[in-house]
Amino acid sequence: MKNKNIEEPDIEIMLQTLRYAARQIVSDLDPEILAYHALEMVADFSHSNYLSLILINENTNSIYITANLKNGEFSAPKTDVTWIPILKKVYDSKKICTREVDRDEYCLFLDMEIPYNKAQIYCLPLIGTNNKVGGFIVLLVQNQIPLTRIQEEILAVLTTMIATTIENVNLFQMATTDSLTGLYVRRYFDIRLQEEIARLSRTESSLALVMTDIDHFKKINDNYGHQQGDVILQELAKIFRNIIRKDLDIPCRYGGEEFVVILPSTKLEGAIVFAERLRIQCENYLFPYEKNPLHVTLSGGVVSIDSGSNLTKDDLVKAVDQRLYEAKANGRNCIKY
Ligand code: GH3
Ligand code: MG
Ligand code: MG
Repeated sequence: MKNKNIEEPDIEIMLQTLRYAARQIVSDLDPEILAYHALEMVADFSHSNYLSLILINENTNSIYITANLKNGEFSAPKTDVTWIPILKKVYDSKKICTREVDRDEYCLFLDMEIPYNKAQIYCLPLIGTNNKVGGFIVLLVQNQIPLTRIQEEILAVLTTMIATTIENVNLFQMATTDSLTGLYVRRYFDIRLQEEIARLSRTESSLALVMTDIDHFKKINDNYGHQQGDVILQELAKIFRNIIRKDLDIPCRYGGEEFVVILPSTKLEGAIVFAERLRIQCENYLFPYEKNPLHVTLSGGVVSIDSGSNLTKDDLVKAVDQRLYEAKANGRNCIKY
């Protein structure tokens, strides 16, 4: 009873923090942001300054560090690690494992310098909805201050929540991204465009749409095969991903070889510059093919609207499609607006 009373104020704070953290983490949809919040949350509850999030690739049974937090500094390295004994043990037992850290286990923390004389490693399993271990969170604390039983219990709750949230994020990604190119699918484009137009009516801003279509793509398929056509789509998607403003622009695969990008907070002039940059990068890009790389061009259309416009989503798509058609009629490898 005495003990319970001493711990009570701490528990109150812990529960509040837990509630706040839980609310934040379950709303994350980006794997990297989720990984960051997950490690931060575990760091808060364990008072650890050295943590890694390790995931298992189900298809290959390989494991990799997907995120690391060192003294509050986050990195997302995607570093492969091997099935060292502590991971195997936790995988098989589905239970938390702790002991004095071994030199062989430093790889789990990206071989970083650890300033403690002696440190305790904790390896927590991430158990998903199918009751399988999908990964681990590993952390280090000083030997003198091991985790309390309550801390361990809270970490068990946290890791369950983290594991299911990772699953949800993966499902969301699968549902919204195209498996060939990694760009967003048409359905997601429709939803996001609608949202962005709605946002325009609330705030003073503008929005642009760039739609592109590869020139004579049928010929590429005919001459080099469908598989090579797929490679070109994948490479082109890379160009798109490199050129956009990360976390702001929304690149989508609209149809077969038609890509469309939603550019929030962008006026027509800016979108034209963007589309021209895309066109030129595609024209100059060496698309890998056996010994002699291929050259590919694209045509594009650009439209934009400002707050106050009453154009609908369908109007906008129709308009950008029309510009694209004009670019094709104009001889291809050009942008029309
Ligand atoms: P244009 O310059 O007028 O656009 O000529 P085009 O040959 O590119 O004509 P169009 O845009 O109508 O052709 C689309 C072609 O894209 C037809 C189809 O075979 C090919 N395609 C669509 N989806 C895929 C895909 O996923 N992989 C591959 N390899 N080809 C695809
Ligand atoms: Mg087409
Ligand atoms: Mg085409």
